[in-house]
This record gives sequence, C-alpha cells and structure tokens, in this order.
Amino acid sequence: MSSVKRVALVAHDNKKKALVDWIVTNKTRLETCELITTGTTGKLIAEATGLSVTKVHSGPLGGDQQIGARISELTVDLLIFFWDPLEPMPHDSDIKALLRIATLWNIPVACNKSSADFMISSPLMDQYNRDIPNFDLYTKRPISID
Ligand code: PGA
Repeated sequence: MSSVKRVALVAHDNKKKALVDWIVTNKTRLETCELITTGTTGKLIAEATGLSVTKVHSGPLGGDQQIGARISELTVDLLIFFWDPLEPMPHDSDIKALLRIATLWNIPVACNKSSADFMISSPLMDQYNRDIPNFDLYTKRPISID
C-alpha cells in the first residue's frame, strides 16, 4: 500500500451526514491521506471539514465507475462507501460494479460507521502490504475464436 493512503469516500444521500460526521471525528488521521470522492459527497466533505478532496463525477453520473477504474489502476488503497440499503438507486448496477471491483482487487472496504471505525483505527493502516491479485490465469486463458 502507498505510504500516503489514498482513500475513496462515497455516501448515498441518506448516509451523507453519517459520513461527514465520521470524517469530522477522524479529521486528524484523514488529513494525512489523499481523498477521492464522488461529486456531491466530496462537496459536502470539503464544506464541512475544509479537507482537500479530489472530486470525480456524482455517483449516478459515472462517479462510482470512475472510482472503480482507479481501483483497478491501483491508485486507491481503501474504499469507504456508506451505501443505503433501504433506498432503490438509479445507478444500482454502478454500485454493484464498484463493490465488485473493490472485492476483486482486494482493497479494504467499509460500508458503515462501525467498519470504518475498525478500519481507521487499525494498526494495519500504517504497515499493511496488500496482496495484489495475479490474474495471469484469467488473462492468459486459452480462447479460440475458430
Ligand atoms: P454523490 O454520489 O456523492 O455524487 O451523491 C454518491 C453515489 O450515489 O454514488
């Protein structure tokens, strides 16, 4: 993992306050990280905390996919994604894709405050060497188009 942690932050509308409150509580630790966020989440975080964030598009406009792409490019170390289990979302497929790609690339994911608390307080935040999966078996699989 990068020594400066690159943390992706995303929250659905009903969870934005919970995420902003969590960031206020953990501001000192997060100040040492690079933060990448979906559009609206990032705007609220920056307004509430003054933290510097890199914003991509709003989630439903492609932001979840942009963060997923960065995970697959190995430029995101942690994902904190307060998704809403009680609301249907127009970009449900993007949400699933983001969670899938985070799982595929073996990055830590926190989907609620408790798991985010465990993650941020872990000593592994400072010393973890994540296994990056080797997909050779997949990419070199025999494919015939005959
Ligand atoms: P938002 O996107 O931060 O732009 O609201 C979050 C999401 O729905 O993925």
